[in-house]
Amino acid sequence: MNDIFVYGAQYFRPPNPCCSRHWFHLRNIRDNLGFNTVKLWVMWNACHPFPETFNFEELEEIVEICKELGLNVLLQTVLENAPYWMEREFPDARYVNARGQAQELSGNGNTPTGGHPGLCFDHPSVREHGTAFLRSCGEFGRRHPCVIGYDCWNEPHIEPVWNDNFWANLGDKLFCYCPFSTEKFRDWVRNKYGTLENVNQSWARYFTEWEDVRTPFRCGTYSDWLDWYRFWFDNLKEQQAWRYATLKKADPDRFVMSHAGGVPPFLPRVEAGINNYSLPEPVDMWGCSFAPRFQNWRTSECAGVLDITRSCAKDKPFWVAEMAGGSGHYSGLSRCPLPRPKDIRTWNWLSIASGAKGIMYWCYLSEITTGEAPGFGLVKFDGSLTPRAREAASIGKLLKRYAHVFNDYQPQPQAAILFDPDNSNLTFAQEDNDVFGSETHIGWYWAVWNADIHARYLRFSDLAHVTEKVLIVPACQIVTEQVAVHLRRYVEGGGTLIVENHFGLFSEHGMQQTPVPPFGLAEVCGLEEDESESTFDSEKPFLFNPLEEPYSQAVHRCPTVLMTEPVDAEFRARTFVTPLLLTTARSIGECLGNSLAAHNRFGRGETYYFGTCLGRSLFHRDEGAGSIIGAILSQKIKPTVKGKNLRPRLIDAGKEALLCVFNDSRSEAYTESIAVPDIFHQAIDIRTEKRVSVRESVVKVTVDCEDVVVLYLWEKKCFNGLNQ
Ligand SMILES: [Zn+2]
Repeated sequence: MNDIFVYGAQYFRPPNPCCSRHWFHLRNIRDNLGFNTVKLWVMWNACHPFPETFNFEELEEIVEICKELGLNVLLQTVLENAPYWMEREFPDARYVNARGQAQELSGNGNTPTGGHPGLCFDHPSVREHGTAFLRSCGEFGRRHPCVIGYDCWNEPHIEPVWNDNFWANLGDKLFCYCPFSTEKFRDWVRNKYGTLENVNQSWARYFTEWEDVRTPFRCGTYSDWLDWYRFWFDNLKEQQAWRYATLKKADPDRFVMSHAGGVPPFLPRVEAGINNYSLPEPVDMWGCSFAPRFQNWRTSECAGVLDITRSCAKDKPFWVAEMAGGSGHYSGLSRCPLPRPKDIRTWNWLSIASGAKGIMYWCYLSEITTGEAPGFGLVKFDGSLTPRAREAASIGKLLKRYAHVFNDYQPQPQAAILFDPDNSNLTFAQEDNDVFGSETHIGWYWAVWNADIHARYLRFSDLAHVTEKVLIVPACQIVTEQVAVHLRRYVEGGGTLIVENHFGLFSEHGMQQTPVPPFGLAEVCGLEEDESESTFDSEKPFLFNPLEEPYSQAVHRCPTVLMTEPVDAEFRARTFVTPLLLTTARSIGECLGNSLAAHNRFGRGETYYFGTCLGRSLFHRDEGAGSIIGAILSQKIKPTVKGKNLRPRLIDAGKEALLCVFNDSRSEAYTESIAVPDIFHQAIDIRTEKRVSVRESVVKVTVDCEDVVVLYLWEKKCFNGLNQ
């Protein structure tokens, strides 16, 4: 599809930047930043002023300049800003929130030209006019050879869930409860269950007419919420397929991609209905937005986001479609720290080491409009380069120089992690958020990251084909009979299954089931769960506690678990303490006189079961918990390269390689000796171009805190044009 590594920036979102400066800025992008691609937002309300009129004049001018400068163009079609004539004609197409309030079109932080949040695509006339707009976008793009492709949906989610008005509560932010979406949901339920009796049985209701099936807006029952979000997963995927097919029909020769904004479970936004497994299915490529300093992520969280984005793209290429170029806004005045040159270095090389096939910054120049001013821009407002922009430019040169090493590189995941969005949906129905699932997953990924391996993320429907030696199943409250069959087969066949408590406590309809774990998994794991008790990070009751006393029983104060295998270690239990009643399993961890960790052999495989939320202990960077999981992983998996405090990743191209060594410490620089495959005898630091000695297949590397060092390795005969 592309014979270049796409490296560029978002450039145009009307009215930014000022039209009189296009030549200056685009030349700056090409000559001083060395980028090869710019992204232009094609806004619906800017280009479709009347029902039968389309106007691409402004875009035409920019595309012509790009053509003359030799810059590639990616067209980002944005339909979340409807023309006002449509709202006048179809007022019943407005999005409706859970409080029953229809959303009039208006301006918004990411929609400076108004028209936000657009109109509901479940309304047939909105779909019809949207089709006409997308078709004309495709016809416009097809006329211009410098257009390489389309991003058909920016950060897909249920609109306008991210409409964070200052006064908004959760009810203001849940969508869409309009008559068209409601009817579509009812049809979806009818299609799934066939009869009302089946709905009644699954939801525990006494409906007598189909009209009784309502969209959930009150908390307390789980079955309807689970189906509501499953409906939205299907509905958004169908919308993705519509956008794709319409553009592809108008311009069959260009790629059509899309990219995620929220990346669950690292960014849990359950109410936004984001299923990053199903949304990439209809498109040619997938991507993610990526603003680590905004989220205060360490490199390990960044790596997890990239691993799950690659996993969701499956065999399609993935891009880092929006890498932060400046500081993001928490509010109009409050912003996150500016990216430093070392952040830009780390994010880029981590993207490459994770298998990304394109990198675009958000954005080239900060905008004059809305809450994004002044932020996000890679360069200063006059176009002069910042230190981070200079770093981005120099990385661009290195990417070009070493593209032959990483072009065909795909990381080989050695561990699998089950994250099924159904579990997030259940936690949302329980809690009105999924902080629990998110923290748990972030904790588990930290352990995987420290083992110097990549992970492949799976949903329930992927469980039939797990080839990795270790399968980690965090925060999995829902287990179906089919899931249990697959997991049993995986362990029988020699896999190592690691799970934590409440494993299958609920059915797919959100109903409690027994035993835990269910459907024969008790035999696989050699145990059943006893009654669990909550344990609290705060260690004290939050209701009626005028003296601020701690809980009198140790079980509620995150008690210590003493582990004897695979290493002697201790960690503090989090969220739940769930005694394990062992049958064939052996206790490997005790807490307050109960077994809280057990190991079982089953078939040719084995299971590790933790009677607590070990992932939340890992989230709190509990060293004991980290050493236990590190020991299990190292027994089963041999990473290609391994560090102690540094995290090396090898991009191996046979006779040459790039060794990226990351340091995710906030404050410490480390020097380590790292063993590399014995084929490599020569090395240079690609940034300083200084030789690094390779003695007995070991290189010594010093990496500053929150930085990366990249070595180019080669065998003696192979040479990259550098003096030996
Ligand atoms: Zn609707």
